[in-house]
Formats: sequence, structure tokens, C-alpha cells
Amino acid sequence: MEQRQVIIVGGGIAGAATAWALAEAGCTAVTLVEADAQPGTHATGRNAAIQRTAIPHAQLHPLARESAAFYRHPPAGFCSHPLVEPVGVYLTAPQGADADHTQQWIENPAFAEGGQEVSWDQVQKAHPYLAPREAKAWFFPEEGIFDVHAILHGFLHLAQLAGVDFRWRCPVTLLCQEQEVLGVQTPDGPLYAQQVLLAEGGWAGRLLPPTNPHRFDVRRRHLVVSGADSRIHPHSPVVWNLGADEFYFRPESGGMLMSACDHHPVSPQQGEVLDREILGLVAEKALRWLPGLDNLTAAHAWAGMRTFPQQPGFHLGADPHYAHLYWAAGLGGHGITCAPAVGRVVALQLLEGGCGLPFNRRSAAPLLRG
Ligand SMILES: Cc1cc2nc3c(=O)[nH]c(=O)nc-3n(C[C@H](O)[C@H](O)[C@H](O)COP(=O)(O)OP(=O)(O)OC[C@H]3O[C@@H](n4cnc5c(N)ncnc54)[C@H](O)[C@@H]3O)c2cc1C
Repeated sequence: MEQRQVIIVGGGIAGAATAWALAEAGCTAVTLVEADAQPGTHATGRNAAIQRTAIPHAQLHPLARESAAFYRHPPAGFCSHPLVEPVGVYLTAPQGADADHTQQWIENPAFAEGGQEVSWDQVQKAHPYLAPREAKAWFFPEEGIFDVHAILHGFLHLAQLAGVDFRWRCPVTLLCQEQEVLGVQTPDGPLYAQQVLLAEGGWAGRLLPPTNPHRFDVRRRHLVVSGADSRIHPHSPVVWNLGADEFYFRPESGGMLMSACDHHPVSPQQGEVLDREILGLVAEKALRWLPGLDNLTAAHAWAGMRTFPQQPGFHLGADPHYAHLYWAAGLGGHGITCAPAVGRVVALQLLEGGCGLPFNRRSAAPLLRG
């Protein structure tokens, strides 16, 4: 019977960051199993790569701040080039209720730090094709655009060097308990461990019995990248317009990456399927927000899943109902921004719960069956 200390289900940023944090703490009898042939093909490989630490949630903002420090000074061997291009991020909101609400939380240090209030003219100076607007704006000069590929592979590389074992093309089909040991069924056969971490992104909770108390809300979001256009400066800041008419954009590959911030609930099967209506909405918002960029054409479009737990915040750490089971799930729209801190927090709970200690046969109750 093959037995590990921790099995991590899911090779996105949540699983990778936790694998790294466990290895960093000396817990290396860890196997990460990923259904796909390579890591990061779902939400982690389909996001907008925007670092935005201003988040109106008292659990998430500190995680984002801690992670920002990590990204500025990653550990030796993580990556040989900067992980964030600090082009700056503008958060804006139309005058009225949206601006008042945004101002309230943005000036609260529990939710935002380092932002300076600026005029709309300043935003327009950075993006001259923007429509004139009655809006409030704040600038976060140190934030910007992630190199998500480098971040994911930095975590995996250091975890692998420390001895963490990875299994790609290895979907877990069953979560079970045998002889008081937690186990997962995979095409390579069963794997057993003292602890199992669920980091399954949009599939969170799917391995648990239908009666389990955890519910996740999977929301699809589309991103569109325009063709290259000489009017777009490749290092101009991100602009994220909050409020009822939410829309964000940033330079990408010579063009503009844009989202209409759609958030329709979907099943994981539909989570990456493009909806033409939403693509039309992006085009409509682009015309309205960026009138100076007429004749912009779409070069690429894709969709991905943002997964939310029922309670606002992330779903992290020891499961209150099932012994030996842990979570790094429900990272919503901030998973890359917060990943290093998520990894640290979850690894700490795994360590406190037994990882690194001699194998302990505390009985898991109630019995889990997928
Ligand atoms: C359009 C979009 C834009 C976003 N923009 C940003 C942004 O600008 N900034 C930011 O910080 N965040 C952003 N996010 C959010 C961020 O991408 C996610 O929070 C993060 O990637 C979630 O990572 P994860 O590891 O939880 O999920 P995933 O990356 O989806 O990884 C989960 C993995 O688990 C695997 N898996 C599932 N079930 C099993 C199983 N049974 N067996 C084995 N493997 C399994 C899957 O194959 C998958 O690879 C965005 C998300 C989307 C969709």
C-alpha cells in the first residue's frame, strides 16, 4: 500500500503553492495529482493576470498584501526574472453611489493600502482613447501584471527539487477511507495518505458524497484580447472600472485584454465554453469605454471558472466535518494575487494537523465515500 503524508488533488495555483509551502517547511512526502496532462490548464491558465491587492474583504486583503511581498522578493531559485510587471493599476468608479461605496472601502486599511486618489484626466493621460467620464479613480503604482506561468512553475520547480512527487493525467475518481487511512483512487491505482488536500478549482467538493455540507458557486468569466494596435502602449496601466458597469482592460501582446466582468453561474462542464452573447457584450463595452480605439478586432477569446464558497472569502484549511481532509478552494477572482499566502496558511494547518509527525491512525469520521 503506497502511503504519503499528504495527497494534493489539483495542480492549479492553489495546489502548487501549497506543495511548495509544505516542502519549504520540510514536509516532502507529498504527492500532487492532477487530472490534466499538465498543470495550470484551468482557472490558473485562463485568468487576467492582474495583481490587485485592494479587495473589500478582511480575510483576502491581508493575504494579497503578504503575497505581494513574496512576489517582490521570491525565494532563491523561484524565477530568474520579475514575477510582476508593475505597470500600475487604476481602480475607478462612476460618481454617485458606486464611487461613494468604493471610496469607503478603499480608504479602509483593512481592505486597501498604497492607493492614491487621482483625477480621471490622469487615467485618460495613460489611456488617451478612453471616453470622458464623471468618475473617481485611485492609482496603485506598485501593482500590475503577473507572469502566471513563471509563478506556477516557480512553485512546482522548488517543490519538485525538495522531493514532492507529481502525477499528471491522474484524475482522482474516488475519495475513500480504508483501514482508517484516507485514500484516493486514481488510474495508477489507490494512493493513501495521512491527509488529503482538495485544491480542485471549479470541481471543488465533487469527490465528496452529495450530502456533504460544502457548496461552491462556479461563475464563468470571459476574456477577449484584441489584435495588436499601435495606439495601445504595451506598458500602460491596468484600468478596472468597478460598479454596475464593471469593465477592465490592460495591454496584452500589443493589443488590449478586456473583460465585461460577466459572472454567470455554470457547471464545470460549461465553465470554459464561450458564449457569443458575452463576446458581444465585451465588444459593446469596448466601444463605449474606449471610443478612441475604433476598429479594434478580437484576436483571441476564452472563458474560465471563478469558484466561490458559500461564505465570502476563501475556503482554506482543515475540514470541520471530515477528519484528515483539508481545502485550498474557492479562490474566486483573486487566486493568483493571494497564492503564496494561501499556500502558507494551508500548509500550516496541514502541519498542525499531523503532516511531518509519525503516521497517526486517528479515525476519520464520518466515513468518506465518493
Ligand atoms: C477569467 C478569469 C480572470 C481572472 N483574473 C484574475 C486576476 O486577474 N488576478 C487573480 O489573482 N486571479 C484571477 N482569477 C482567479 C484565479 O485564476 C483563480 O482564483 C485561481 O487560478 C484558482 O486556482 P485553483 O488552483 O483553485 O484552480 P485551477 O487552476 O482550476 O486548478 C484546479 C485543478 O484541479 C484539477 N482537478 C480538479 N478535480 C480533479 C480531480 N478529481 N483529480 C485531479 N485533478 C483535479 C483541475 O484539472 C485543475 O487543474 C481569474 C479567473 C478567471 C476565470
